[in-house]
Amino acid sequence: MSTAFITHADCMKHDMGEHHPERPERLAAIEDRLIASGLVGLLDRHEAPLAKMGELTRVHPAEYVEAVRMAAPQHGIVHLDPDTAMCPHTWNAALRAAGAAVLATDLVMGKRADSAFCSVRPPGHHATRNRSMGFCIFNNVAVAAKHALEYRGLARVAIADFDVHHGNGTEDIFSDDERVLMVGSFQHPFYPYSGTEDTAPNMFNVPLASGAGSREFREAVEQVWMPELERFQPQMIFISAGFDAHVEDDMAMLRFTEADYAWVTQKLKDIAERFGEGRIVSVLEGGYSLPALGRSAAAHIKALGGF
Ligand SMILES: [Zn+2]
Repeated sequence: MSTAFITHADCMKHDMGEHHPERPERLAAIEDRLIASGLVGLLDRHEAPLAKMGELTRVHPAEYVEAVRMAAPQHGIVHLDPDTAMCPHTWNAALRAAGAAVLATDLVMGKRADSAFCSVRPPGHHATRNRSMGFCIFNNVAVAAKHALEYRGLARVAIADFDVHHGNGTEDIFSDDERVLMVGSFQHPFYPYSGTEDTAPNMFNVPLASGAGSREFREAVEQVWMPELERFQPQMIFISAGFDAHVEDDMAMLRFTEADYAWVTQKLKDIAERFGEGRIVSVLEGGYSLPALGRSAAAHIKALGGF
């Protein structure tokens, strides 16, 4: 068994301002917890490469990628939307984040790793084909899924998103794409106020009310996610791993615990093992309480690796 841990120092240099919750320390909190738990020595560490233009343009129009590049400031901070900003280091961080997801896919597809976790920022699941929003610039998990389908030649992949926010960008990119099944859970009504109306037949969203916790989440997974995943039989699983539904995370009002993240990871691993030769790639999304993020990511990675 081997589990790849993919990150890059450039992802720590992306800085949207002093009081922004999506801050560089998030990645340090994950690494710190991996050290404290002893997991760090069990992982195969890789440096994230810069995503290539052709990898990004499978998901985003070239005009959008170019507009992001042109928006990057020489000094200071430039806002792409009210929540999402670029500093002089953001362009490279965004390319590393998407590049990590591509490398993770290649490592797992090439049997150089059984599973992989990308500890990267900026996150990706709110980025639509042509719009950055909600702290996200390029849709990292979508870039990875398209790489698996269009470069690695898989026919069917699934994306599971347990971030507290609806993965509207991923849904925008893959709605009605019969090669992709997406399962998600998120607080509703809550930012970005989507995911419950006019959803495509390949999207299985479970909105959760404010205050919902382990019981409601596990019911959603057992009753909605698992039957759809078993029916679809994905050849590979991608996870949009946001940890902001944790009870200690005050970004939102769900009440998940690290045990829930370990549990759902095992469920998804079981599907990957049954239908996809165990292929599973996870990419960090949200998670803003640093201690809860560290513990949750560690529990997730421990389950991912079967340690
Ligand atoms: Zn989130």
